[in-house]
Formats: sequence, structure tokens, C-alpha cells
Amino acid sequence: MAKKVLLVYAHQSSGSFNAAAKDAAVEILTAQGCTVEVSDLYAMKFKATATAEDITGGVKNAEHFSYGEETKLAWEEGRLAADIKEEQRKLTEADLIIFQFPMYWFTVPAIMKGWFDRVLTLGFAYSVEKPYSLEIFKGKKAMLSFTTGAHESMFSANGINGDINVTLWPLQNGVLHCCGFQVLAPQIFWAPSHVSSEARSAMLEAWRTRLQGLLKEEPLVFTPPECFDKEKGFQLKPEVHEKHATKEFGLTVGHHLGKPLPPNSQMKAGV
Ligand SMILES: Cc1cc2nc3c(=O)[nH]c(=O)nc-3n(C[C@H](O)[C@H](O)[C@H](O)COP(=O)(O)OP(=O)(O)OC[C@H]3O[C@@H](n4cnc5c(N)ncnc54)[C@H](O)[C@@H]3O)c2cc1C
Repeated sequence: MAKKVLLVYAHQSSGSFNAAAKDAAVEILTAQGCTVEVSDLYAMKFKATATAEDITGGVKNAEHFSYGEETKLAWEEGRLAADIKEEQRKLTEADLIIFQFPMYWFTVPAIMKGWFDRVLTLGFAYSVEKPYSLEIFKGKKAMLSFTTGAHESMFSANGINGDINVTLWPLQNGVLHCCGFQVLAPQIFWAPSHVSSEARSAMLEAWRTRLQGLLKEEPLVFTPPECFDKEKGFQLKPEVHEKHATKEFGLTVGHHLGKPLPPNSQMKAGV
């Protein structure tokens, strides 16, 4: 069956490198028979702030407004704002979601963070009682594709910005894995503004090649939620800890168990 792809795209300029990366993805995936929908956040003037206006028909407790609780109720009752509903529809239908953006302050631009805050609502995308365990996105793949201002050497364990695997952890674990997506390795276009036009063309060509097999890629490895004990405040179960005691590296960037980080675990599948 033809796959559906959602491209959530955040750049202000159609002449940007990000636009070129987005256009390549649309072209190659469409040529493979995929249906590609693009949420062009700046063009849509996507609202980035999580406020009571995201709920229609009044809120339960205006005095002490709780965005999570109020949007959960509104989602259950079909009272979320139209733009949120529309993005949630696109997400529900998609098999693969690609987030295309320039890195801003080690993370996504505010407009894309607003998309996370407003679209991935409590109940729909995550659960407090069952963290990392909702089934809605279980069969779906998601990935980050982004440009940087910094060169790759600067985002290394000895580089001035530190290990890129650490930078990726909050987005790939805290957003994508937390919502239950299978997370594909990121596509990073290092410093397109500071390299030759040949190097830029080579980066785009490598992306085009990767796109050909993207839907068949294996996801990154995370510690499954079953490894944590709910009764003990979601701590790692002793048997998992013991099983890993003699291993050289920690489990993941976050669950490092006081050991060296597993090399490149946020960059490559299967490590
Ligand atoms: C608020 C803010 C915070 C930032 N924080 C960080 C940070 O934390 N870490 C970090 O590393 N960087 C950071 N940056 C830098 C930012 O990540 C880069 O400026 C951005 O990633 C560059 O991507 P772009 O698409 O905007 O590049 P552009 O400037 O649009 O493009 C780069 C070059 O590619 C060319 N190009 C466009 N299309 C093509 C094509 N089809 N083929 C070949 N070449 C093409 C363009 O003409 C240009 O010469 C930050 C920037 C801002 C504004």
C-alpha cells in the first residue's frame, strides 16, 4: 500500500538550504508512490504558543489554567482548535513524519516547538500514567532532518558544543520516543552556509540517495518502557541494571548508568 508522509517544515525562505532539503524529500518520496503532505509552518503562520485559545467552548478552570489537562478534555470532546485538529489528522494518517528545520539554540525553532506543544497533546500523543507506552504512533516512523551553523567537529565529545548525541537526546527521546514513534537516525546537514557549493550539492545528493531507502530503515534503539518499574517511580528494574553491570557502555545517552555513553546511539540504528 502507498505510504503517507508528513513533512513538518520550518524555514522562512523558499531559497534556503532547508527548502532544498524539503523539496528533495517531496520529490523523491512522491516518485516512490508516497503521498506527501507538507505543513509549512511559517507559511501557515502556525501559532506557536500554548494558550486557552486552543480550546473551543470554554475551559474547565480558567483561574488555574492547566494546558495539559484542559487540552486532554478538549481532545476527548472534540473541542481543540481547528489548526490543532488538522495537524492531528495529518499525524494520524501518516506512516512517516519528517521534521525539517534549521537548528536554533541546540533545538528546533520556536514555531516547531509550538507545533510539538500544541499538536502532541496529553491523551492524544502521550500519557502520564503510561509514559512512552501509548500505542497510537507505534507503527509510525519519525525523524529529524536539520541544518546547523556549526561544523561537525564542533559537535563532538571534544568539540566546543559537545557531543551531538547529547544534543539529540531531548528531541529524539523526550519528544519522539516519548510519544511512541520509531525514531529513524537524523539527517544532519552540517554548516551549509560555511561550505563550498560543491559540498552543499554533495550533502543534498546524499540525502536524495538516503530518501530512496528511508521507509525501510531500522529505527534507533531506546530502552523499552517495560524496563522501568511504575511502582518504584519508573526506575530501571534491578534485573535490567544487573544484566548490564559488566557492559562497557551505558544503555543510552540518558540511561548511562554512570558509564561512558554508547557511541553514536542517537545517530545510528542498532548501536
Ligand atoms: C536564532 C538562531 C539560533 C541558532 N542556533 C544555532 C545553534 O544552536 N547551533 C548551530 O549550529 N547553529 C545555530 N544557528 C545557525 C542556523 O542553524 C543556520 O544558520 C542554519 O541551519 C542554516 O540553514 P539555512 O537553511 O538557513 O541555510 P541558508 O543560509 O538558507 O543556506 C545555506 C547556503 O545554501 C545555499 N543553497 C540554497 N539552496 C541550495 C541548493 N538547492 N543547492 C545548494 N546550495 C543551496 C544558500 O544559497 C546558502 O548559500 C542559529 C541561527 C539562528 C538564527
